Amino acid sequence: MYCMECGTRMKVARENFRDKTLGLPNLTLAGVEVRRCPACGAEEVAIPRIEEMHRVVAGALIRKAGRLDGAEIRFLRKSLGWSGMDFARRFGVAPETISRWEHGAPMDRLAERLLRLAVAREAPVADYRVEDLGFVDAPPAKTFRVRVKPAGKRWIAA
Ligand SMILES: [Zn+2]
Repeated sequence: MYCMECGTRMKVARENFRDKTLGLPNLTLAGVEVRRCPACGAEEVAIPRIEEMHRVVAGALIRKAGRLDGAEIRFLRKSLGWSGMDFARRFGVAPETISRWEHGAPMDRLAERLLRLAVAREAPVADYRVEDLGFVDAPPAKTFRVRVKPAGKRWIAA
């Protein structure tokens, strides 16, 4: 594998990679292949089966203890393939309300349970139980981190 920028042979390593591309600041992709150019520093990350990875991340988010933050709400909306307008129509709220939620205004507790349920049902997450919705009311961790890793043909929460 050669660098697209400068043509130097890239170094390949398995690393725990902090992924920022999904808008989630505390997402780690564990043990993924990272290629780095020793000459110019260019970096590439190989992420297999991205859609499934998104689903596993969504599955971790809907099991979060305590309330979702704006970035997490936005990620879950997108994982459902919904626009802000789609979200507003389904929940019977103004589009501005969606925007406020995604920018950190607290989401109505029942709306949050409904969002978690929609994710569990529409983009099926393995083994999600109705009782898991109770995590909405659980005491939150100081920093909620999501860590997923490729395992054989699947992604798993790590
Ligand atoms: Zn290079």
